[in-house]
Amino acid sequence: MSILRLQDLPIEGKKILIRVDFNVPIDREGNITDDTRIRSTLPTIQYILDHGGSVILMSHLGRPKGKKEPRFSLAPCAKRLAELLGKPVEMAPDCVGEKVEEMARDLPAGSILMLENLRFYPAEEKPEQDPQFAIDLAKLADLYVNDAFGTAHRAHSSTATIAKLFPGKAAAGLLLEKEIDFLGEAFDQPKHPFYAVIGGAKVSTKLAVLHSLLEKVDALFIGGGMAYTFFKAQGIPIGDSLCEDKEIPKAQEFLELAKEKNIPLFFPKDLVIADKFSENAETKVIEAADGVPIGYQGMDSGPVTRTEWANTLQNAQMIFWNGPLGVFEFPPFAKGTEAMAKTLAALPATTIIGGGDSVAAINKLGIAEKFNHISTGGGACLEYIEQGNLPGIEALSKKDSPS
Ligand code: AMP
Repeated sequence: MSILRLQDLPIEGKKILIRVDFNVPIDREGNITDDTRIRSTLPTIQYILDHGGSVILMSHLGRPKGKKEPRFSLAPCAKRLAELLGKPVEMAPDCVGEKVEEMARDLPAGSILMLENLRFYPAEEKPEQDPQFAIDLAKLADLYVNDAFGTAHRAHSSTATIAKLFPGKAAAGLLLEKEIDFLGEAFDQPKHPFYAVIGGAKVSTKLAVLHSLLEKVDALFIGGGMAYTFFKAQGIPIGDSLCEDKEIPKAQEFLELAKEKNIPLFFPKDLVIADKFSENAETKVIEAADGVPIGYQGMDSGPVTRTEWANTLQNAQMIFWNGPLGVFEFPPFAKGTEAMAKTLAALPATTIIGGGDSVAAINKLGIAEKFNHISTGGGACLEYIEQGNLPGIEALSKKDSPS
């Protein structure tokens, strides 16, 4: 990668605007329930402070849809960051405007200012509607750093647009660097046998990555809600299971392509089905080939599948996993996902978790440290694998180049 990195920037005495991803879960009382995203940016922030710079942080939180909604304020994140760093973090009343410019101008070296939610402005997500928004953000600092891998796949004002306003001065932060170095190397030169396990709800959001993976893997394991569109595509009845009917032709094409390329596809052989989408539902285990009866829906992979998949993965050198293998939020349907997490945790292979809900499952089991790489971005991770680049990364300055 030839993009500029944090270590290439002349930080001393400079104000550095960092795009972070502080889009953390917050409960009804306003408490942060998981601060992983804040913790993961500490190395970048600390590096800047240690090198004599001052830090201006900007992020989105939730979906305020372009309106200033107090419940989406970043103030709780500023507070948590201050606790983690053991130093004050000043909270700005907005992310642009005169008052913020004044606060940024007066920010002493070694200090931290947190801007208010970028998505209080529609221009954050639609830069073309108001190019001035990115210009106003850029006014606040001397240098720009992107450390928000989770939003690097979006060409937003604070990611792609703003980077162009810092020619020769827009760099990747340490978290972003770690993500692209790890994913870049792993997917450029995968260690074989390389297996990918893909689950989750929607086949429409995963078909592109399935196609990219087909070029690289030795076998693909497809589970979760998206498996049912593939079952239906093969003429297997699926009852009331999740299905995207309009994706069926694409699913059929994919099955054909895998056959042509001689890449084995594993689908669940047995299923845990339920008479309603509820953790109190009546459940049964059936063979997938027999089809899901009407009035039932597939909620998890069954015990035979869990054992078969665990055994088949044993000789892996590298495994990529994205998406839960069942409705893991309901304990009776979490076994497939938990079994996969435990299988991967115990393997000597390089294990890569592609963000999203699989990370939640791993955190719940307290085994995160057993994996080689847990990506901080679900969608960004999948798009990076598909395209080998992301708009937020592409827009950063190139090394040895003025822009
Ligand atoms: P995704 O964001 O596409 O990775 O999907 C994650 C969601 O898929 C989780 O909320 C799971 O509950 C859901 N999911 C997994 N398996 C199933 C299933 N068999 N039926 C319905 N939803 C599922």
